[in-house]
Amino acid sequence: MQINVAQLLRASIGSVRDYEIKQVIEITGDGVNSMVEGSVRLLRTNRSILVKGALGTGVELTCSRCLGPFECPLKVNLEEEYYPTADVDTGVAIPVPDEPGSFTIDENHILDLTEAVRQYALLAVPMKPLCKEDCAGLCPFCGHNLNTGPCGCSSRRTGPRWVELSKLKKEKGK
Ligand SMILES: [Zn+2]
Ligand SMILES: [Zn+2]
Repeated sequence: MQINVAQLLRASIGSVRDYEIKQVIEITGDGVNSMVEGSVRLLRTNRSILVKGALGTGVELTCSRCLGPFECPLKVNLEEEYYPTADVDTGVAIPVPDEPGSFTIDENHILDLTEAVRQYALLAVPMKPLCKEDCAGLCPFCGHNLNTGPCGCSSRRTGPRWVELSKLKKEKGK
């Protein structure tokens, strides 16, 4: 996800460039690739290039209720400043701000979005992911995934009791 920003670094402050992104990166670090798609806007500021992006991607997660794997869509709203490390005309090194985790543009004026997108995507991963909002979960008795239909426990364990209750009610009513 690399963008050559040499031209933009030479442009006047306030200049913008828009880019469409469609690229596969590794987000969770387990060898699984995710497609990242969306648009980014690069703005030349007096000291940096400000990147704003609205991107979408997805990661494979395990549902916290039914323990099934599912593809979780993620929205990535990126906003980061990238600091140049070399003067675009002279090549002279530019000291970068002493802020931990700040992103830089390399000496060849390549701005690489990959790491920022990866970090933002990880932050967007839900703490208790659900494969769907109304995931039925697992049967507490037999462990059957109730999203795929009833397991039979419901009729064995709760069904008969209800039948007896309704019988009792009927008898009382006599
Ligand atoms: Zn689920
Ligand atoms: Zn069951």
